[in-house]
Amino acid sequence: MALVACRECSRQVSDRARVCPHCGIDDPYANKAISRGMRAPGWFSLMALLILLLLFAFSVGVDVNSILILLIILVGSLLSIGFYFLPSLIASNRKHPDRRFIFIVNLFFGLTGIGWIGCLIWALSRDRI
Ligand SMILES: [Zn+2]
Repeated sequence: MALVACRECSRQVSDRARVCPHCGIDDPYANKAISRGMRAPGWFSLMALLILLLLFAFSVGVDVNSILILLIILVGSLLSIGFYFLPSLIASNRKHPDRRFIFIVNLFFGLTGIGWIGCLIWALSRDRI
């Protein structure tokens, strides 16, 4: 166990603390640059996989139109999934204290429309301690 500077308020905090006792931020010792750097290879490998898949499709002789349609369907469904979970993403980004509950409600009641709007309002409301 060691004392490190909190990434938000720069005060001393245990490296095992899950929440900073001074400002209340999650994972106070987590380095923002490191966590951002770990996300980048994920996107890179996703793009590499997509390019490999395209090259494979071209080499097999699939025509360009069906690949384009497949891509549009893929991007469209990814976008609609992203839109569906928008309240959860907002709550997660804002480090909302209820973000796990928001995700569960979003998952099961998002389709009702009212549930989705409720989640969005919930995610945007801020009741920090
Ligand atoms: Zn702090």
